[in-house]
Amino acid sequence: MASTDWLSQGTLVLASNNKGKIAEFEKMFAALNLPVNVIPQGQLNIADAVEDGLSFVENAILKARHAAKISGKPAIADDSGICVPLLGGAPGIYSARFAGAHGNDAANNEKLLQKLKPLRKAGEAVEGMFVCVLALVQHADDPLPQIFQGIWTGEILEAARGGNGFGYDPLFWLPELNVSSAELSKEEKNKISHRGQAMRLFKASLAK
Ligand code: IMP
Repeated sequence: MASTDWLSQGTLVLASNNKGKIAEFEKMFAALNLPVNVIPQGQLNIADAVEDGLSFVENAILKARHAAKISGKPAIADDSGICVPLLGGAPGIYSARFAGAHGNDAANNEKLLQKLKPLRKAGEAVEGMFVCVLALVQHADDPLPQIFQGIWTGEILEAARGGNGFGYDPLFWLPELNVSSAELSKEEKNKISHRGQAMRLFKASLAK
């Protein structure tokens, strides 16, 4: 099976129910002009997969297989999150449920700020990185998932800034641009973000 055979299937299921991610993907997939319809799994009534892997790549594959199994179509999943080396890589794969409930962005951000408070040193930035792993499976049992990974490095702010984006964007500071990720437009963010980087690798795979 060739790595681009899925393009002849007419549909690619986007294995995510996260509105923020889907909004970013919509713009990026539109720009690629693929000969398939990219359909978020919610439109096919596919519920979230159980994410019990220990790494982004494991969870991305789990999610893609789950969507492909239920839909009978090729699927691409994004597993992403923020890693803070000072916290041993946390929240990492638990980013969406750091404070307990899945997807409570305000509580997750507050927990991150509280965890970092006693560890901060005057004049020293706290490094953080957004990670995005995309996994594409051509069918549920695909033995060769295609993996595309992006890492976006920045700093973790002491208080939220900006009203765009989702998740941890208001806490993610880009020193070279002097803005937080939540102060970027979708277009600006997609050009440099972890998700944008992974999507560029995905795009490159289409030319093979
Ligand atoms: P997932 O849906 O299980 O992959 O969880 C991803 C979580 O990571 C989201 O709920 C956000 O908290 C966080 N995250 C991933 N990508 C971004 C981003 O681009 N901006 C802000 N937060 C993000």
